[in-house]
Amino acid sequence: MSAAGDGQAATPRRDPDCLFCRIVAGEIPSTEVAADDMAIAIRDIAPRAPTHVLLMPRDHIASAADLTDQDAALVGRMFAMAADIARSEGIADAGYRIVTNVGAWGGQTVDHLHFHLMGGRAFTWPPG
Ligand code: AMP
Ligand code: ZN
Repeated sequence: MSAAGDGQAATPRRDPDCLFCRIVAGEIPSTEVAADDMAIAIRDIAPRAPTHVLLMPRDHIASAADLTDQDAALVGRMFAMAADIARSEGIADAGYRIVTNVGAWGGQTVDHLHFHLMGGRAFTWPPG
């Protein structure tokens, strides 16, 4: 929380070597779908479904394994943002999937927390 106590950092905590921190900062282009003071949502560069959006906090958090009670508002906000995007993308009624990969065996390739919002086709369970 910032000194102003408004729940957002004035300048996002960032890792200079992190791809998604650089996207949040606008240093690397992306196709933005939604944004607020805590998080942004962009289209995945290599979509695995007709709708494939990545939601990420503005602050650098390496993965879901690094979340704490202090991040409750952030996580709530990101899931609400995902539900809004699902409605605006027209995938809400059919159903969709929200996934976050953690670590090597989880399939995580970018070490900045992100939720994959995927829809527009049916998914199998369990995932591969
Ligand atoms: P994960 O493998 O769960 O860490 O997810 C990383 C995701 O980031 C993958 O689905 C990639 O396709 C996606 N990705 C990598 N680079 C970019 C980029 N520059 N813009 C948008 N998505 C990206
Ligand atoms: Zn980062």
